[in-house]
Amino acid sequence: MKADPEAQRRLLDLQAIDIALTQLAHKRKALPEHAELGKLARELSTMEDQRVRAQVAVDDLDRDIDRLERDAEQVRARKEKDQARLDAGTGPSRELEALQHEIGTLNRRQSELEDAELELMEQRETAQAALDEVVTALEARRATRAEAERRRDEALAAIAKDEEFRQAGRRPLAADLPADLVTLYEKIRESSGGIGAAMLRQGRCEGCRIELAGGDRARVKAAATDEVVRCEECRRILVRTAESGL
Ligand SMILES: [Zn+2]
Repeated sequence: MKADPEAQRRLLDLQAIDIALTQLAHKRKALPEHAELGKLARELSTMEDQRVRAQVAVDDLDRDIDRLERDAEQVRARKEKDQARLDAGTGPSRELEALQHEIGTLNRRQSELEDAELELMEQRETAQAALDEVVTALEARRATRAEAERRRDEALAAIAKDEEFRQAGRRPLAADLPADLVTLYEKIRESSGGIGAAMLRQGRCEGCRIELAGGDRARVKAAATDEVVRCEECRRILVRTAESGL
């Protein structure tokens, strides 16, 4: 293949832009915020489970306390009814004695219920404190996530802007180069780790870093300046410049 020596040299400019674009793509994937956000997501999921469990504990206690209060209310109503009948003093004395006895039983029952309720109220206070703690920690972690997301988005926007800038430089450069040269360059780039063209500097291919052997060097030196030469070792386009040391 033949190409104007100047076009061959500009291929190195294209290569430099492509290396920058590859690095930007790598940077985008390797942002530390990705790992940080993954870790935060796992932590938040665990904390959310803790919050649900703590809320269930509070709700269970609320339900138990409600039941005790309803029981206590029934005992109170029954006692009032008994007391009213006793105060009326009507009916046989055996019946009044039975009422007296029942009121005594109801008093003990009421006292038991009140003790049980008090204990549950204390448990509820502890459960509520645990819930509050989880909610506070959850909110703090969510704020950390929001901050990490903001940093990630900022970094992504900067990378996108940089890419846009490089692409804007690449388009006219590639359009200006001979199409067959660009096609060859792209083909090599695809199979050679993103490097399609390398400078020959001081007798060494900058693509594979291997110094050209004597015979090879003579072949490159003898090639016409518009001949597109390839590295014998890595098959990349070898661009000759004043620094080639030929
Ligand atoms: Zn090479």
